[in-house]
Amino acid sequence: MSSPFRFTHTVTERFLRYVVIDTQSDPSSPTCPSTEKQKDLGRLLAAELQEMGIRDAHLDQHGYVYATIPANTDRQVPVICFCSHIDTSPDCTGKDVKPQVVRNYRGGDIVLAGDPAQVIRATEHPALAGQIGNDIVTSDGTTLLGADNKAGLAEIMDAAHFLISNPQIKHGVIKILFTPDEEIGRGVDKADLKKLGANFAYTIDGETAGNIEDETFSANAATVTIEGVSTHPGFAKGKMEHAIKIAAAIVDRLPKTTCSPETTEGREGFLHPIGISGALEQATLRFIVRDFTDAGLKEKEALLESIVKEVMKGYPRSTWRLEIKQQYRNMKQVIDGHPEIVDNAMEAIRRAGLKPVKTSIRGGTDGSRLSFMGLPCPNIFAGEHAFHSRLEWVSVQDMEKAVQTIVHLAMIWEERA
Ligand SMILES: [Zn+2]
Repeated sequence: MSSPFRFTHTVTERFLRYVVIDTQSDPSSPTCPSTEKQKDLGRLLAAELQEMGIRDAHLDQHGYVYATIPANTDRQVPVICFCSHIDTSPDCTGKDVKPQVVRNYRGGDIVLAGDPAQVIRATEHPALAGQIGNDIVTSDGTTLLGADNKAGLAEIMDAAHFLISNPQIKHGVIKILFTPDEEIGRGVDKADLKKLGANFAYTIDGETAGNIEDETFSANAATVTIEGVSTHPGFAKGKMEHAIKIAAAIVDRLPKTTCSPETTEGREGFLHPIGISGALEQATLRFIVRDFTDAGLKEKEALLESIVKEVMKGYPRSTWRLEIKQQYRNMKQVIDGHPEIVDNAMEAIRRAGLKPVKTSIRGGTDGSRLSFMGLPCPNIFAGEHAFHSRLEWVSVQDMEKAVQTIVHLAMIWEERA
C-alpha cells in the first residue's frame, strides 16, 4: 500500500540544524545530564515543539524533553511514545560538526573533504550499495556526524509536525521523550515514566531502513576470585601457589575459536574477560556473559566454572569463588507479551514502502531497560550507519522513510483500537 499523503521533505533541514550542536556525553562525569551542553539541544527541541503548538513541551532539570501530542479521535487508543537520545558518543568528537551532503550518490567511495584520509569505502560499507540515487549526509571527516541519534530526533520532530499540521489524520495520545546520556548507559536513569504516562514506546535509533529490533542480549557479569598461598620467594619450594598464575591459566583455557566477541556473530553469545588484577595472594578476573537466552547464559557460566575447577586441581591449597550478577535481560521477554507492538510497527514500515526486517541487537539498549521498567520498547530504524566514527552517514531518503513510518504507526494504533 503506498502512502495516501503528501509528505514534506523537512526532516533533513531539522537534522542539519541539530548535528551542529555539540552534545557529546561524558562517562567520567557524575552529573545528570553528564554534560550541560546536551541541554542546548534539549532547549531547542522543546522550543521547536512549543512553536508547533505542543503546549506541554519542556526540558527538565536532568536534560530530558517531554511532550504530548493530544489525541484527535474518540477511540480508546493506547498511549504510545517515540523516543530518541540527545547525546552523541564519547568515542569520537562531536564539536564543530560540518555536515556535507552528497547529492544523487552514484556508487563508489565517499572521500570526506576535511580529511581525505577518511574514506567511506563501498567495500567496507555494503549498505551504500542500496543508496544509489539517494542523497547521503556525512561529516567532513574531522568529527562524527551524530546521526546516532540526531536522525531519530529529526524524524520524530518531523513526524510530530506532520501530525499536527494534518489534523485529518486520526491518532491517539502520542508522547515524545528525548533522553540524555544514552551512550554512557545512563539514558533512562532519571526518566519519569509516571509523568510520561505511555503504554508502549519505540526508540527510533536503529540502522538500516526497514529494520525493527525486538531483541537484545541478556547480560550477566561474572567475577572469579582466587586466593593463592603466599610465602617468601626464598623459601617457597613446594609451598607457594601463585594467584596470578592461576588466573592466567584460567584465561588461557577459555575457548579460542568460539564463545568470544571476536569469534561470534548473529545469535551466538560469548564469555568475555574484561578485567584482570591481582598479586601473589589474591587475583580477580572479571567477565561479561552475553546470550539471547537465559539457558545460553547458564551454559557459559557453567563452562567458566568447569574451567576454574579444572585449573584449581593443580592448586589444592588455594581457594576460589565465582559470583554472578545480573546486568540486563533480553527485552523480547517483555515485548512478546504484547505482539501488537511489533505487528503494528511491521505494518507501518510496509506502508512506508519498505520491507520490514526483524533483527536482534548484540548489546543492550535504553529500550531494553525501559521494557523491564514497565514500558515495552522495541527499536525502529533511524537510517544511521557507521555509528561512533568519523565515517558515520545517513541518507535523506531513509530519514524520510522513518518519518513516514512514525506517522503510519500512529495511525495504525488508532485504526486497530
Ligand atoms: Zn544511538
